[in-house]
Amino acid sequence: MHDVTIIGAGIIGTFIARELSKYQLNVLLLDKENDVSKGATRANSAIVHGGYDAKPGTLMAKFNALGNPMFDKVCKELGVLFERIGSLVLAFDNEDMKTINELFQQGIENRIPGMDILLGSEIRRMEPNISRKVIGGLYSKTAGIIGPWELAIALTENAVDNGVKLSLNTEVRDIECIGNKHRLITNKGMIDTKYVINCAGVYADKINDMVSNDIFSITPRRGEYYVLDKGTGGDFINKVLFQCPTKLGKGVLLTPTVHGNMLIGPNAEDLEDKTATETTYEGLEFVKKVSNKSSDNIPYSKNIRTFAGLRAQPSTGDFIIGEAKDAKGFINVAGIKSPGLSSSPAIAKYIVELLDHIFDGLKMKEDFNPIRKKPIIFMELNDDEKKELIKKDSSYGRIICRCEMITEGEIVEAIRRNPGATTVDGIKRRVRPGAGRCQGGFCGPRVVEILARELDEEPEKILKDMKGSNILIENTKNNNLAYEEV
Ligand SMILES: Cc1cc2nc3c(=O)[nH]c(=O)nc-3n(C[C@H](O)[C@H](O)[C@H](O)COP(=O)(O)OP(=O)(O)OC[C@H]3O[C@@H](n4cnc5c(N)ncnc54)[C@H](O)[C@@H]3O)c2cc1C
Repeated sequence: MHDVTIIGAGIIGTFIARELSKYQLNVLLLDKENDVSKGATRANSAIVHGGYDAKPGTLMAKFNALGNPMFDKVCKELGVLFERIGSLVLAFDNEDMKTINELFQQGIENRIPGMDILLGSEIRRMEPNISRKVIGGLYSKTAGIIGPWELAIALTENAVDNGVKLSLNTEVRDIECIGNKHRLITNKGMIDTKYVINCAGVYADKINDMVSNDIFSITPRRGEYYVLDKGTGGDFINKVLFQCPTKLGKGVLLTPTVHGNMLIGPNAEDLEDKTATETTYEGLEFVKKVSNKSSDNIPYSKNIRTFAGLRAQPSTGDFIIGEAKDAKGFINVAGIKSPGLSSSPAIAKYIVELLDHIFDGLKMKEDFNPIRKKPIIFMELNDDEKKELIKKDSSYGRIICRCEMITEGEIVEAIRRNPGATTVDGIKRRVRPGAGRCQGGFCGPRVVEILARELDEEPEKILKDMKGSNILIENTKNNNLAYEEV
């Protein structure tokens, strides 16, 4: 029997798993998908927010303020890119300046350091490409950017190295409470556990319904984005650029990514379908129109991709965190909308404190290793290091992805890690072939070949991403496998 089972391997579940791996506990992390980080964690703005935006007194305000300063240490331990580039909320008129002042006051109440109200001329010195119409704004020095799925993967690797068990492709379909334990009914059979932590993202309401009568609902709120080519983020703009928030959230922003791209979005659209991650013409046109207010000449011709993510909008309006009143041992970490990523390290610490209390004192492991071996990034090596590596392993001498300059050695390493990549997008999330200008047009078939070889699978079994996303479908008359557009 497991002591603790975590349902959902997004940023919240993986952070909690890594935090719990410091203690003498038998922990299971499970997810219905074939990889970690396939919910909201892989499709968001990737910003560690300063923390002025959430209403004082909410859990969102509390955990954002506590979480933001924790990122430097954990990213260093796990070898994950994180840059405190700062953010600006732009004001275009006096009404906006009123909002800027309110946000500043809110930030003071939330105890956020490093904020300043700036004039338009001061902002233009920082960001020469913003609109001439900007008259001032709020600067938040502590805001940062990160690769959210890279962090979730790294947290999982470190948790697994420290003894957490990971079970992918495992969907929780029901939960029975039997005395002091819970029995999870999954597609792979039954799992007995003392404690359950519900981190199921947009499905957290469904999981809660399985055990508790204390009902809440989660509405998927879609946000759509453009991704511009490398060289735009950190060049065209340097900081995260917000407009004043609206009723539906923080509004359309421009931000560099840690890999030098630029993200533009999101809109906000409430839906019923919890799987509706497709982009729409209307949504993207809206993003383009609103973003053009922040800058007159956004280089949209450099757009290489669009995507959409679903925020888990809770009926309560705030994060839902804690043991269900009517279900002992069942802990919700639900409704984790934005700033969920920014709050994730602090939420994980809080859950451990909660379990420490419940278990009457958790015992630390003596051999917990906080350091994850950072994957090799070939292009970051100097010439001597490159030569040395190729001498040891010639696969590092073969470039597979020309846009991002990724070698076969890096792809093979991503497959051999735990959890290793098993799909084309799993490779992309770990080492980035397919994330560049050609979007996998050149490297995609070669990544399929490498996956098939390493996993000892037929190439037609290799998936692009989710179940059913096979790329090769059948033999053509020349006996070559045909590629399907997915
Ligand atoms: C458009 C958008 C922009 C955002 N921007 C930011 C931002 O810039 N900064 C910020 O701080 N936050 C941001 N957020 C919020 C942030 O992305 C989320 O708070 C965070 O990713 C939530 O993580 P999670 O682990 O709770 O959920 P998820 O990442 O959705 O993970 C839930 C997991 O549960 C699994 N699951 C569900 N049901 C079951 C089941 N029955 N059995 C097994 N597994 C199951 C899913 O497969 C999934 O992997 C944004 C969100 C969106 C959508």
